[in-house]
Amino acid sequence: IVLLVLLAPTILCSSYTNPKPIDPIYWPDKFPAKKHCSKCGLCETSYVTHVKDACAFLGDGMKRNIDGLESSVHGRRRKIEDTHIVADETRFGVMHTPMFLARGKRIPNAQWTGCVTGIAVSMIQSGMVDAVICIASEDDGSDEGWSTPKPILARTADDVLRGRGVKPALAPSLNVLDELRDSPDIKKLLFCGVGCAVQAFRAIEKELKLEEVYVLGTNCADNSPTPEAARNFLQRSVPDLLDGKKIQGYEFMQDFRVHVKYDSDTLPTPNYEKMPYFCLPGDVAQFAIADSCLACFDYTNALADVVVGYMAAPIDTSSFQMHASQQTITVRNSRGERMIRNAVDAGRLEIGPDATGNGRHEQFASATVASDNIVQSMIGGTAQDKGMPRFLGELMATVLTSIGPKGVNFARYSIDYHVMRNYLHIVDVWGEADAHKMLPEYANSIVQHYVNTDKGFCQIVEK
Ligand code: SF4
Ligand code: SF4
Repeated sequence: IVLLVLLAPTILCSSYTNPKPIDPIYWPDKFPAKKHCSKCGLCETSYVTHVKDACAFLGDGMKRNIDGLESSVHGRRRKIEDTHIVADETRFGVMHTPMFLARGKRIPNAQWTGCVTGIAVSMIQSGMVDAVICIASEDDGSDEGWSTPKPILARTADDVLRGRGVKPALAPSLNVLDELRDSPDIKKLLFCGVGCAVQAFRAIEKELKLEEVYVLGTNCADNSPTPEAARNFLQRSVPDLLDGKKIQGYEFMQDFRVHVKYDSDTLPTPNYEKMPYFCLPGDVAQFAIADSCLACFDYTNALADVVVGYMAAPIDTSSFQMHASQQTITVRNSRGERMIRNAVDAGRLEIGPDATGNGRHEQFASATVASDNIVQSMIGGTAQDKGMPRFLGELMATVLTSIGPKGVNFARYSIDYHVMRNYLHIVDVWGEADAHKMLPEYANSIVQHYVNTDKGFCQIVEK
């Protein structure tokens, strides 16, 4: 497998001399990273010739991109330290200022309050950029539009607004790069994307020969491989809800529940169904999470100038609604600072206090890894195929939310869990020696911390 992965780019590059948009039925077989391809879009453009140096999922790509490009993008690498300060750079990446909370000026049909869309709209309206690469819907307005990502090169605020709402499936953000190359009037660009796409974009950024480039990222973990898988996930998880409802989106939230947002027939604001994680069918993770996301160590989007997320934000469990709640913003450099200032000046962003957190996160992370179905199936353990009864799942979610880590510490719990689970995945697929070549330095420090302090994790590693 390792040999195939290493040879694949050479073999496939030769067949990509005249790239054309690729029919999804050929994904992932026709892509160099094969089943670990995150469908970032690079291989559907003429820039595929750079795939060996850009792809996050070929060889040591994830480590090479994160450890190798942080300095050139942000002016320095993150500080890796075994520390428990509130928002540590080990996990959250380079920080130009402390991570803070913010709300967007409410944009209807945005997933949250519209922080990402508001920053992008303010940049194009102020002339800071000529165009924005963002993800609209394949089928705007249709019942399935919420789940079907379509990258666009947006030139107006109205185009950018088409990108509002989070699409829960892999999105080929870079597949508009040839359109950009053929648009000589575009000199200043904002690229919006998740970590794996931002890595590939940063690796080829100089080839675009633009005067100014800004990158606006989002936190990201466990995306669905296809829109169909995302819709199947909801159909399996909340079947009663879907009947006749127009879904707007869903998120895995800090109260250990999946929040599904759908149109209200009578109110101007959306409705929510909240299902405890523990009630989900045990096998949903197997088909609803892309293999690339199991080999990903870029949850916090290391190479973006600004990152918007929600895992480190507070959650008011009694009345929480994502379309009205705060998110977190990480500014990584002075470009990012200008982006935020521009959005605030335009009245598109309302800045709150610095993000804070409390509660121990490590025991929660260890326990989640030990009970995880994906981990259990790797080590020949017992995977649960049925979720808990609803009343028990609600009780469990309520208790864990009350005693568990909060704010920034919840995000640290989530990051540590994903780093450990994904480390086990890459060891399982590629073997320990190659896995260590792929692991960014920060992720290695987290893995080593648990290996040194957690007997249960050590035993799983040994299996
Ligand atoms: Fe190509 Fe992107 Fe897939 Fe890597 S992740 S194989 S660069 S499309
Ligand atoms: Fe890409 Fe990683 Fe997000 Fe998956 S989890 S879509 S690989 S950034």
